[in-house]
Amino acid sequence: MKFNQLEELIKNSKKILIVSHINPDGDAIGSVCSMYTTIYDNFKKKSDILVVGHLPNSYKFLPNIDKAEFKFDDSMVYDLVITLDVAALDRLSNAKILFEKAKATINIDHHKTNNEFGNINVVKGSASSTGEVLLEIYNEQNWKISLDSAIGLYTAILTDTGGFRYENTSENVFKSAAQLVKIGINPNEIYKHCYELKSKNFVMFQNYCINKAEFAHNDKIAYSTVYKRDIERFNGEEDFTDGLVEILRAIETTDIAFLAKEIDSKTTKISMRSKKSDVAEICSVYGGGGHTFAAGCTIKTNIEGAVKRMLKTIEEKIYG
Ligand code: AMP
Ligand code: MN
Ligand code: MN
Repeated sequence: MKFNQLEELIKNSKKILIVSHINPDGDAIGSVCSMYTTIYDNFKKKSDILVVGHLPNSYKFLPNIDKAEFKFDDSMVYDLVITLDVAALDRLSNAKILFEKAKATINIDHHKTNNEFGNINVVKGSASSTGEVLLEIYNEQNWKISLDSAIGLYTAILTDTGGFRYENTSENVFKSAAQLVKIGINPNEIYKHCYELKSKNFVMFQNYCINKAEFAHNDKIAYSTVYKRDIERFNGEEDFTDGLVEILRAIETTDIAFLAKEIDSKTTKISMRSKKSDVAEICSVYGGGGHTFAAGCTIKTNIEGAVKRMLKTIEEKIYG
């Protein structure tokens, strides 16, 4: 039994916090809801869930999402903090303090750049998603997997494989999905929540950003910019940029696509995708990371400066 230590720690902890990265995606929030449910179902313990940043509407259907808190008391000391889908501690933003104060920590993730910052680390770079890693743990430990927990895991796997399309869509992804279908999840229902409840403004905003895309290096690089005022103009939310960079990657000539998003006048978030190049390596130049074909980082400069630097880094590292 590989994960006995993990079970012991959960059993021996009274105050447990489950948290993921800022502005959670489907893998992050699906995994958090599933872990909450599975700990409750198996150990009759109610954990705290903390959402850092914005929770997209698409994920408000997840069972037990109503237990999530968006604010926290920074004097709180948890017996155990479990991070899910957190590639680096900075991705917890200001909630990092809860992790640092905790008596024990567990880090479950699938980013190859994860530096194993927890007391116990289950980091599987070959897994499609944190959801897939969680299912392996549940199975190994013979924990009961309820329908509510399975819905979280399926959402995690579905979204991090881009709907079973990306290169991380392995045999084990389908085995995992099949197990979750057997438990009773409805693939079409979850698909609709994740992909077919976009607002009109969301689609118009994305269209606007695609329209102003720019290209470099014989169209091998495609990129666009998102200013705060762009999001405001469409009455948008943080998640309005979700999926945008994948549209730029889908262009036949694109190798590397990126989106530069204004956080404030001196901070830019880069989301990068590729078909062939290692973008985790490019993003690690700026202290970020992620996966080979999907990575991100934050650059401490305005959008124009960040774009210039990124284009230069790509030219040097990839096409140099
Ligand atoms: P994003 O472009 O934000 O969707 O991120 C793409 C992938 O890279 C996701 O798996 C993220 O978790 C990861 N990632 C994004 N930003 C960072 C960062 N600053 N450090 C490490 N990994 C990151
Ligand atoms: Mn994620
Ligand atoms: Mn993930």
